[in-house]
Amino acid sequence: MTSIDNAATVDPNGSLGKPDRLPVLFIGHGSPMNAIEDNEYRRSWQALGAQFGTRWPRPRAILCISAHWLTQGWWLTGMAKPRTIHDFYGFPQALFDQQYPAPGAPALADALSRTLQAPGGSAVGVDSGEWGLDHGAWSVLKPMFPQADIPVLQLSMDYDRPPAEHYEIGRQLRGLREQGVLIVGSGNIVHNLRAMRWGAGDEAYDWAVTFDRIVAERIEQGRLDALAPLLELEPQARLAHPTHEHYLPLLYAAGAAGAEDKAAFFNTGFQGASIAMRSVTWDGA
Ligand code: ZN
Repeated sequence: MTSIDNAATVDPNGSLGKPDRLPVLFIGHGSPMNAIEDNEYRRSWQALGAQFGTRWPRPRAILCISAHWLTQGWWLTGMAKPRTIHDFYGFPQALFDQQYPAPGAPALADALSRTLQAPGGSAVGVDSGEWGLDHGAWSVLKPMFPQADIPVLQLSMDYDRPPAEHYEIGRQLRGLREQGVLIVGSGNIVHNLRAMRWGAGDEAYDWAVTFDRIVAERIEQGRLDALAPLLELEPQARLAHPTHEHYLPLLYAAGAAGAEDKAAFFNTGFQGASIAMRSVTWDGA
């Protein structure tokens, strides 16, 4: 695979007080247009990416769990050159013209497929040609790491499996943070496209504000295993997530966070009244 040795140069002896352990991120991605519009979200992703190599080590690889890759069973992208997938329609040509030519991480995908335990003991597969990088991944990674020189792989989600199982797989990813792998969950804490009202600014629906606040409280309290059951919270959960694929990436990121990590929020507003953009960094440094 592509050399992923660059993180080792940050602090080989651990003597400079710089942690080798990477934070874990959950990013609310919202509209695909955030990838190319000069707005507060894109600017925050640029600022976040700039902290790798200074505040945090530069990642050796990035593992992204995106709301937009749903499969039967769990799969990892294993191709050396994942294609950029434009999995949306009705947007300007400029968005379809976007490419994110980051290399893949086939050796890491192979290793992970052997160590990750899917529920029920089934294997996590390696996909060598079907997927690539969908917009849940590249729309945030391109502003964060515009050079596209850090290897990226994606882990799919089996939508038919209960939320708690997604959290459990997230827990298995925790150790990767010591190995220089940046884990990025990309979805939205509230996501109801049908209810969207453009031009609503930060004025969100009551149920959206309530659900977002309850999620935020549990994260602040470190009650991360209490996030999956929130999808049962009625009536807010059904409105916040008519389908819950945008919530699941949060469970992977929360699973990969530990008790020693401190959660911090950014982008705490709403897009179109029904999309919570709240994003989280868990950082033990
Ligand atoms: Zn999305």
